[in-house]
Amino acid sequence: MKVLWCWRCQMDLPMLDEEEFARIHLLLQRKQLRNEAGISSLKHAFAPALREYERLTGFRETNINAVLHHRLILFGPPCTACGKPLRTPQARYCAACGASRQPAPS
Ligand SMILES: [Zn+2]
Ligand SMILES: [Zn+2]
Repeated sequence: MKVLWCWRCQMDLPMLDEEEFARIHLLLQRKQLRNEAGISSLKHAFAPALREYERLTGFRETNINAVLHHRLILFGPPCTACGKPLRTPQARYCAACGASRQPAPS
């Protein structure tokens, strides 16, 4: 877990590494199987995944969609000008400050 600026949420939030994300994903999949009963229990269905996110990060999130995009692999390296992570690993410039991406120092 690593705290990064999320451009979607416009705040610093804990981002999951792939190992952590896998745990949450697993909880969601399990829930989907058990939850074919109906949409009314959808909120319930996400509770274990949200709890796991809170356990891993210490941050209480109530929106499963936020949890799903708080994943380190979806973000690029930090912008060399403003320090915010690039929006995607492929980004060629920083959407936050407009600086073009600098090659990573070797
Ligand atoms: Zn976010
Ligand atoms: Zn920038």
